Amino acid sequence: MKIKANDLKRQYDLYADEYDKAAIQCLRSGWYIMGPALLKFEKDWAQFIGSKYCVGVASGLDALWMAFRLLEIGFNDEVIVAANAYIACVMGITLNGAIPVFVEPDGYLNINAEKIEEKITSKTKAILAVHLFGQACDMTVIMDVAARHSLKVVEDCAQSHGNHWQNKRVGSYGDISCFSFYPTKGCGAFGDAGCIVTNEKQIADAAKVLRNYGSEEKYHNRVVGVNSRLDELQAALLSVKLSHLDKLNDERTILADRYNNGIRNENVKLPIVRKGADSTWHQYVLQVKQRKKFINYLLMHGIETMIHYPIPPYLSEAYRNLGYSKGDFPITEQQADEVVSIPIYNGMTREEQNYVIDVINAYDIG
Ligand SMILES: *Cc1c(COP(=O)(O)O)cnc(C)c1O
Repeated sequence: MKIKANDLKRQYDLYADEYDKAAIQCLRSGWYIMGPALLKFEKDWAQFIGSKYCVGVASGLDALWMAFRLLEIGFNDEVIVAANAYIACVMGITLNGAIPVFVEPDGYLNINAEKIEEKITSKTKAILAVHLFGQACDMTVIMDVAARHSLKVVEDCAQSHGNHWQNKRVGSYGDISCFSFYPTKGCGAFGDAGCIVTNEKQIADAAKVLRNYGSEEKYHNRVVGVNSRLDELQAALLSVKLSHLDKLNDERTILADRYNNGIRNENVKLPIVRKGADSTWHQYVLQVKQRKKFINYLLMHGIETMIHYPIPPYLSEAYRNLGYSKGDFPITEQQADEVVSIPIYNGMTREEQNYVIDVINAYDIG
């Protein structure tokens, strides 16, 4: 059997007629940028998350750097972020001239919130809470630390579309929350898209100006802005996906539960979910020593895997200027050496999953 690491065609197939209809309706409408489909999606997404405002932008990275810009966090300000986060999280900080300050992750592969306070200095302006792999950070501790030190909180929910911390969805906690609708994300588009979510009207209004050349009214440019808009076609398709998102997330939970209950191999560490959080299982991340051997073994049996992520941002070439070196964050580096994401996607069959489970359970380090 051949099993791909991810298969987006399967997810499209689940509601193909609805996507086709929405796309054709948009094409035939003659309105392609900043129209009714965007307004509808923004309203529905804000409501889904449980916040007041949503502003569509062109990508998750744009949402991130615009969030810090909107909070007036820039040159030489410090922002606290998990050392094992995705590199776009760090770019969202540094594109504004701000400095990322890294904190080690915990056993749930998210920022160790108990270690944030010791990193706070007079230059610290914000905490970027990245809800990695579909699971919430400990927002109780993060919101408490932020309140005590008057810091802003930005949430990166790119991998967490709809899951909760306690009784609220992630994205409803921070001053600004950032979403990517990149095709592989929970509510994935059919191209690039993203948004910010906030409860503050002033921030939402400023975001609408920033994304559109700094103008609210055509040819009246209040500030220097950018072109970062979520187009009508993507918005229309996203509305279809949003209408099924809870179901899609439930299906992923069932898939993850099968792995949780089915995989039994002492060489393989399963992911765990923190009390107070649920997961939308953006990835199902195992930790395995001698990972290369494990990956090759799976590949030999037709099973593809991915690594999220092999190089921590502070060790990447792009951030050589930050002056970090190997050994600076040992927990992060151990995870980077051991994590491996196995196939989990909407439309995956029970037969395929049983095959993956059987192959993993038969793995012998030798
Ligand atoms: C995907 C992702 C981003 C970037 O989103 P793009 O839409 O690809 O720019 C940022 N942060 C996290 C955690 C992501 O997974």
